[in-house]
Amino acid sequence: MEQTLLVLKPDATMRRGVSAAIFEQILTALPDITIKGFTEMAVPQHIAEKHYAIHQGKFFYPWLLKFIQVGHVIATVLEGKHIVARLRDVLGATFVEKASPESLRGKYGLVGGVNVAHASDEPENAKKEVALWQHETNLDLAQDGFEPINAYIVRWRETPVLATYDIRQICQEYAQEYSNRELHQTQITDFLVEECPEWPHQDLQKLADAILGNMDLDRDKS
Ligand code: ADP
Ligand code: MG
Repeated sequence: MEQTLLVLKPDATMRRGVSAAIFEQILTALPDITIKGFTEMAVPQHIAEKHYAIHQGKFFYPWLLKFIQVGHVIATVLEGKHIVARLRDVLGATFVEKASPESLRGKYGLVGGVNVAHASDEPENAKKEVALWQHETNLDLAQDGFEPINAYIVRWRETPVLATYDIRQICQEYAQEYSNRELHQTQITDFLVEECPEWPHQDLQKLADAILGNMDLDRDKS
């Protein structure tokens, strides 16, 4: 049966209510799947490099390595018929602005490539990605994934998800002139505080920096 790797990125995991909503909506949209393994972890540099090896040399690669290491990720494997394509559908297009408003990236993504989750893009890559995470991290596919995901949903579903549109607004303002970076970083951090009650302030500042950092890539290209 086909498998795919799902990795919730730090912009989802630090906003606990967002992760809970994502899991809930995946279970609703894909009711026939099996879930194997569940781990929340910091991604070591060598795993980040291997996971994103396909993007090595691209202008966004250094940002990507940094972003995935801002906070924890949650990794799990979904199994089911045509699951690779179906999960990509539920997730939505890569860029938040292009993702349909019903998709997870359209609903919870913040800006550009700050897009809440990774999902394998085609079955051959999925096999490689599943093997990497299975063999080189503590993701244990022998473990049932439903139980920890349901426990996660129960624990975090009431965490407020209030700031998506406010943060998008601040990003739009920043994109007008790319000035006052520190002020925008502080404003984003303040909104994140509401949604990330258990994270130290300096980690939220790092996430805010990474959000603006994704936008700086566009500035530097033009
Ligand atoms: P996907 O995650 O949809 O498979 P890619 O594999 O093309 O997308 O890229 C990996 C990740 O790199 C994206 O999810 C996004 O976070 C980031 N990214 C890709 N392209 C860009 C870009 N042009 N500008 C900023 N970030 C990007
Ligand atoms: Mg990809």
